Amino acid sequence: MSTVGELNTSNRILMGPGPSDVHPRVLKAMATPLVGHLDPEFVTIMDEIKTMVQATFQTQNHLTFVVSAPGSAGMETCLVNLLEPGDEAVICIHGVFGGRMTDIAERCGATVTKVEAPWGEPIDPQQVKEALAKTKPKLVAIVHAETSTGVLQPLEEISEMVHEAGALLVVDAVTSYCGADLRVDEWGIDAIYSGTQKCLSAPPGLSPVSFSDRALAVLDNRKTKVQSWFLDLSLVKNYWAGAKRAYHHTAPVSAMYALREAYRLVLEEGLENRFARHKRNHELLKKGLESLGFEFLVDEAYRLPMLNAVKVPAGVDEGAIRKRLLEEYNIEVGGGLGKFAGKIWRVGLMGESSTPNHVNVLLSALRDLM
Ligand SMILES: *Cc1c(COP(=O)(O)O)cnc(C)c1O
Repeated sequence: MSTVGELNTSNRILMGPGPSDVHPRVLKAMATPLVGHLDPEFVTIMDEIKTMVQATFQTQNHLTFVVSAPGSAGMETCLVNLLEPGDEAVICIHGVFGGRMTDIAERCGATVTKVEAPWGEPIDPQQVKEALAKTKPKLVAIVHAETSTGVLQPLEEISEMVHEAGALLVVDAVTSYCGADLRVDEWGIDAIYSGTQKCLSAPPGLSPVSFSDRALAVLDNRKTKVQSWFLDLSLVKNYWAGAKRAYHHTAPVSAMYALREAYRLVLEEGLENRFARHKRNHELLKKGLESLGFEFLVDEAYRLPMLNAVKVPAGVDEGAIRKRLLEEYNIEVGGGLGKFAGKIWRVGLMGESSTPNHVNVLLSALRDLM
């Protein structure tokens, strides 16, 4: 067998739905020599990361940590731990990721009531209220930033309804986290998961999560074992939060180094400044794209600053232009997912990829190509 050549990837400019560009300091941290995952020095690193997860989620929740797997595993962690066979759940679907939550909840044996909105629109709180009146759900799950459609979902009104009905609120914040305001304690979120490769600008493969005391009480009162050994919080929490760190699995040490540095960058910048930067660069991109004939899919009031869903102008071969952007300009933008495939683009301005330079490079390339 001949050996494959040395790794030699192109220097892409990442402006899709994630991963986003990574700061050189994060790449450098990843190249730090390994220590053992139970080494006291690594335990300190885990504690430091946990503190920074709490700060960025704006929560005091004790059970706040990082799942050693991507955002979808964070989604699964929330649902498999809180749902048991026979439970009822209300799941809001306004894009691909609400659909994925439904699939997981059904695999947990839960009976799911779906609350749906047309793709490109937020969920109407009134419909959640109606679903809560008809069923007795243990939890309501909703996506804060729907990456498939570019919609930012307001959460506070829905959170109030959910708690009045005695249910838990589960939130997908994979794309909004560290790019738009997100207040876990103030907004009454009981279980939340995110990812590292979007506005946090760390490599993919980890999922920050947090659980309220209300969620912990539900977990403690389970009648059945959590069906996933790896994601079972009653086991994982002894590793992340136990007085004595018990071996559960081997932590991805290098990825944790990278994540720690990415969090340092976020907190050096400050959350408010970071949110404002995402907004500013979104405005800059909006002006440029509209002048080229792109139209935003989502109503202005609900637009995500970090994920711009735009309709490709009529007569433009979107696949061909995206291919040329990648091959000739090294720029990655996202195509449409599901029912929007071939119709929209999803231009990401996430974390390190949210800069005026990214916006200008893309607009210049598009002016050449179109
Ligand atoms: C990216 C994303 C996920 C899944 O995260 P992975 O890291 O790809 O598993 C879940 N929800 C939303 C809203 C996302 O954007």
